[in-house]
Amino acid sequence: MKIHSARFVMSNSSVEHCPNQPLPEYAFIGRSNVGKSSLINALTRHNSLAKTSSRPGKTQLINHFIINENWFLVDLPGYGYARVSKSTKKEFQSYIRAYFTKREQLFCAFVLIDSRHEPQPIDLEFMAWLASKEIAFYMVFTKADKLKKGAVQKKIDAYCKVMTDGAWEEHPPYFITSSSSGLGCDEILEEIDRLNEMFRAAH
Ligand code: GDP
Repeated sequence: MKIHSARFVMSNSSVEHCPNQPLPEYAFIGRSNVGKSSLINALTRHNSLAKTSSRPGKTQLINHFIINENWFLVDLPGYGYARVSKSTKKEFQSYIRAYFTKREQLFCAFVLIDSRHEPQPIDLEFMAWLASKEIAFYMVFTKADKLKKGAVQKKIDAYCKVMTDGAWEEHPPYFITSSSSGLGCDEILEEIDRLNEMFRAAH
């Protein structure tokens, strides 16, 4: 898929106020600092699209971007954000939950994971929760350029093994990405293209 246009639409904290066009929507989420803004900018070939939404005060909102005027990319707040109070955390977790369970246009989520890190309970719990709600998602391993070539696949295999040794029958599908080199970006866009076709066939 070629990106012809990518534009910020709105930020809000309530699923009820999200845009109401019946366009397929893809949510990007992960722990803060995982590389989400960088990946969104790399995917959309835009240097500062996601930065628009990470202005102070906007980081904890549901941010909609419209791509090619025919699908939405949604930048969700980074979970596990250290600098917010417990009550703020609870509040934004509840609207993230509401977003995932109520947003009809949501077609697939992309859960970002730093490829250098060991599996973190917060990510595993969040993915288990998505699965329990039957929400389709991909794992996106970020910052692959920070590891040596052979080490990336080893790390990811170990990550997946932790999942399948646990409660997962099989590991979720994944992409390996680097925002610095652009690795994995075309593959994600091709998948979104395919999902867009599926969405349109079904609606
Ligand atoms: P966010 O908090 O998840 O939006 O993370 P950012 O996109 O702001 O990235 C956090 C830090 O990681 C920044 O210093 C980025 O420059 C760096 N970073 C993000 N993605 C990559 C990547 O693919 N490769 C490398 N080497 N650094 C990255």
